[in-house]
Amino acid sequence: MSNTDFVLAVEDLTVSFDGFKAVDKLTMYIDKNELRVLVGPNGAGKTTVLDLICGKTKSTAGSIKFKNTELTKLSEHEIVRSGVGRKFQNPSIYENLSVYQNLEVSYPKGRGVFGSLTFKRTKAVEEQVRKVAADIMLTDFLDMESALLSHGQKQWLEIGMLLMQEPELLMLDEPVAGMSAKERDQTAELLNRICQNRSVIVIEHDMEFVKKIAHKVTVLHQGKILAEGSMDKVQNDEKVIEVYLGH
Ligand code: ADP
Ligand code: MG
Repeated sequence: MSNTDFVLAVEDLTVSFDGFKAVDKLTMYIDKNELRVLVGPNGAGKTTVLDLICGKTKSTAGSIKFKNTELTKLSEHEIVRSGVGRKFQNPSIYENLSVYQNLEVSYPKGRGVFGSLTFKRTKAVEEQVRKVAADIMLTDFLDMESALLSHGQKQWLEIGMLLMQEPELLMLDEPVAGMSAKERDQTAELLNRICQNRSVIVIEHDMEFVKKIAHKVTVLHQGKILAEGSMDKVQNDEKVIEVYLGH
């Protein structure tokens, strides 16, 4: 493929587990500052797509270009360093550290001057922590031990830890699972804010939530794209109603 302006260009991506194709010739393009939502029934291959992009799973065939760099040949670390951040379903924050410290330790190592938790706080780190804390609505909780945060706040903190690295592509797997209605609304606002500076891919089942955030929706089914386009378009698609929304 020749160079493109897409942040992410996935072409003919396939992964086979003992002959079973969890992702089957997937082609998908994500724009700069786009918020794309992946939906589809359980087992459709959504999480596997994120695993492939972040290098956790190696593809069997096809290509993943991030800013025109081929990711399928890179290690997970190299992919993170190239600007791809990925949040898993369960939050992995340091419960015994404060919100501030969790953000602080997530500052990219190459850019700081520290190796331990007792390092001198540089101005750049502190500014970045405060900026991210505002984005994730935790400014008033910076000194709180993270164990004491609500479930939703822990999810936001983990998003914040990824934002500390200023990824150009951020991927979130079911970020509002277990959240209250109010936290879901706040998360929608959070995502709408953070996609102004980066592209975001979200896997989500809650269609009310998807409606609030999606620029475009990709519906996966059996490792393939069943439909793609605006929320309106995919919601009214016969095939989508039959295999996914009808249930
Ligand atoms: P979704 O996130 O859409 O629910 P997944 O991507 O988790 O679906 O899984 C898609 C299919 O691939 C499922 O049938 C799952 O069992 C299978 N699968 C995922 N990862 C592996 C793996 N590492 N080894 C074998 N099968 C896998
Ligand atoms: Mg999944």
